[in-house]
Parts: sequence; C-alpha cells; structure tokens
Amino acid sequence: MENQTELKPCPFCGSEDVRLRWNMGTATYGVFCRGCVSDILMYFEVRDEAIKAWNRRAGDPDENHTP
Ligand SMILES: [Zn+2]
Repeated sequence: MENQTELKPCPFCGSEDVRLRWNMGTATYGVFCRGCVSDILMYFEVRDEAIKAWNRRAGDPDENHTP
C-alpha cells in the first residue's frame, strides 16, 4: 500500500498505523486506526480532500468539536 505515510498519527491514541479507507456504504473516504481500532468516518469523495482534512484534524486537536 502506498498511502500510509501521507497521514498524520491518530489524534486519539497517537498511533501512526492509520490508513485511508473507502466506505462502500457511504461512498466516501474515512480513516481506520489500528492503534485504537477506530473507524473514523469522514465524508469526502475525493481522496486528497480526506487526507487534508485528516491531517488538519490531527494537527489541531482543539478543533475536534467543529464540523
Ligand atoms: Zn487511534
């Protein structure tokens, strides 16, 4: 797989073992963390947008509550 290094570590558990994941049900990208075994749903149809949003969230823990 080639997309692991683009993602920042999980903001919840700090694990770097996070990967982008395509959700068939919603037809959008989310992130799966193998550290805390969390499926973090995001709703981006574009892969780059999902990565950017994840990295923004991971780097800004104070803003988790804003959608
Ligand atoms: Zn985690």
